[in-house]
Amino acid sequence: MTRIVLRPHKVRTFLNKHPWVLDSSIDRIDGTPADGDEVELVSEKERFVARGIYNGRSRIRVRLYRWDQAGPLDEAFWRGRLQTALQLRSLLGYDDPQGAARLVYSEGDGLSGLIVDRYADYLVVQVTALGIALRIAEITAMLADLVRPKGIILRTEHAMARAEGIELREGLSWGRMPEGPLVVADRGLRYQVDLAEGQKTGFYLDQRENRRAAAGYFRGRRVLDMFCYSGGFSLAAAAWGGARECLGFDSSPKAVDWARANAALNGLANVAFQTGDAFPVLESLVTAGEQFGGVVLDPPKFARSRRALEDALRAYHWLNRLGMSLVEPGGILVSCSCSGLVTREDFRNVLLGAAQQTGRQVQVLEQRGASPDHPVAIGCPESEYLKCFICRVV
Ligand code: SAH
Repeated sequence: MTRIVLRPHKVRTFLNKHPWVLDSSIDRIDGTPADGDEVELVSEKERFVARGIYNGRSRIRVRLYRWDQAGPLDEAFWRGRLQTALQLRSLLGYDDPQGAARLVYSEGDGLSGLIVDRYADYLVVQVTALGIALRIAEITAMLADLVRPKGIILRTEHAMARAEGIELREGLSWGRMPEGPLVVADRGLRYQVDLAEGQKTGFYLDQRENRRAAAGYFRGRRVLDMFCYSGGFSLAAAAWGGARECLGFDSSPKAVDWARANAALNGLANVAFQTGDAFPVLESLVTAGEQFGGVVLDPPKFARSRRALEDALRAYHWLNRLGMSLVEPGGILVSCSCSGLVTREDFRNVLLGAAQQTGRQVQVLEQRGASPDHPVAIGCPESEYLKCFICRVV
């Protein structure tokens, strides 16, 4: 088997089970692996570290999957990994047959490049690594066997597919498509999810527990839900939290349609959604002297690369300064960032800067992350991307 030999002093990250071996960590390759081949990673002293899959086209030359020498990356191995991931979701109680959950979270489940979300009886699989793409038929068959869904739908993220050299046919890959709109349940709330056209795999499952937590602070309050997508925070605030009124904005007209449909589906009359770009909308709300008992800011990923980090931090600052000034004294700000490159520390500093500029006193009540079906691999900081701060703004 081809051996990938690490440069001196590079081994620690991989012993900590970080699965991405970048070109810059590699000293030499003993052999000529084809893209998608199984390889062995060894230290500079040629001691075994892990087994992974090679991809000469990607910035991530090798993705690691197995840190023992007990066997190859064969069918039994993948099946075992999937079973371990599924067991975690049962442990979490995320097994409502009508509900939704992330069954496999890539690095977080030791399956770098594979995401599997369950929406009631359907699975949506997202592939972000060539090694997984080349084994997807095998993996799909295992998922069909282990989960017994009605259908499995494949989606790719185009930028990622290009970077990895993945060629996959999107769409139904096993079973059948849902007839008509699919509705999933979350503790009494119901959401319509569009598996083929929705953002990500159709729904932001990572915010599930944050919506619940945020809702708890909104009783009797008027809530602004900025970047509302299909209305998750507003529906939770109105249905679970007893918010008086919610107003949501999203720049995508489709998202606003879904949010409205979801409000109707749940019989919630005190939530309204409008299409709008957050920045001018926030400016005009500030100018109009509006105040809210709760403000939720859940923007898309601003930092897509290290080069874009400074600009992203400025955008977060701007957003939070405006959002904060819309919070009535003693009100609640729920502020999120899903940029993996923005650390928790960076984000806290954004909130500090906004507090200074608005002259407000900010009390951090909860510092949250993604729902536990998005587990963080302790040795892989990139698997912790979502930050959600719940603050009281005095
Ligand atoms: N809060 C949502 C998820 C938000 S994802 C939930 O709980 O499900 C980020 C959303 O921001 C997307 O729906 C996207 O359409 C929207 N968006 C992107 N740029 C925007 C902008 N400039 N103004 C308003 N919305 C924007």
